[in-house]
Amino acid sequence: MSSIIYGPVSSWRLGRSLGIDMLSTEGSTCSFNCIYCQLGKTVRPLVERREFVTLVDLAEELEKVKDVPADYATFSGTGEPTLASNLGKAIEMVKSTLKLPVAVLTNSSFMPRKAVCQELALADVVIAKLDAPDEQRFHAVNRPLCRYTFDEVLQGIRRFKAEYNGKLALQMMFVEANRDCAPEMARIARELSPDEVQINTPLRPCAVKPLSPEVLAAIRDEFGGLGRVVTVYEAEKPSATPLSMVETLKRRPEL
Ligand code: SF4
Repeated sequence: MSSIIYGPVSSWRLGRSLGIDMLSTEGSTCSFNCIYCQLGKTVRPLVERREFVTLVDLAEELEKVKDVPADYATFSGTGEPTLASNLGKAIEMVKSTLKLPVAVLTNSSFMPRKAVCQELALADVVIAKLDAPDEQRFHAVNRPLCRYTFDEVLQGIRRFKAEYNGKLALQMMFVEANRDCAPEMARIARELSPDEVQINTPLRPCAVKPLSPEVLAAIRDEFGGLGRVVTVYEAEKPSATPLSMVETLKRRPEL
């Protein structure tokens, strides 16, 4: 495998998933500097999109994995995938070359931009990060480097949901700094009505401690009335409860 393509890894939602990293940078390149980032402090803080990996290089790497059995190709990697200005074209190339459905993990920071949402809409599954119910917690948890406010990001997700024909999952990371926000975040989730809510806590080494299974279960209870809600601990259970798509993507730096 190359630095652009990794895996496949197993997931019950995505089956065997090939990871695509259109940033492929040393350390993280991101528009956030989340307190729980397993890559540590954002090494390359970026608020504007640019090309990191050329489509020519991607095409070369895709040729090498054409025969690798997989159910999904997932854009994730060493930072925020929408920072790659060629993301839309890369999604189209992956679809046409691998003939696989495509998922994208995003931190939602560029959801206020229509052009970015149009590119994301080319994916079959979009997993969008939302870790806060308001501006203050947004800054406390995600420490955004981009210029968009929490309300603008939320409005971007709202608009994307209204126009998107694929599957939208909300990924919510809970740590000590936002654990008391669960009722308000559940209210926001109910209003957005995604296809799935993924309740997470950082289980891989990082600067903050994960919440316990009991605390996460109590947080999950706040999310009644939503169609499908999964927690990372449920996904961690062996065989009888298969891995969720969140879990698949945790094998690459958490978005
Ligand atoms: S957790 Fe994800 S979104 Fe947050 S700083 Fe790290 S790479 Fe960026």
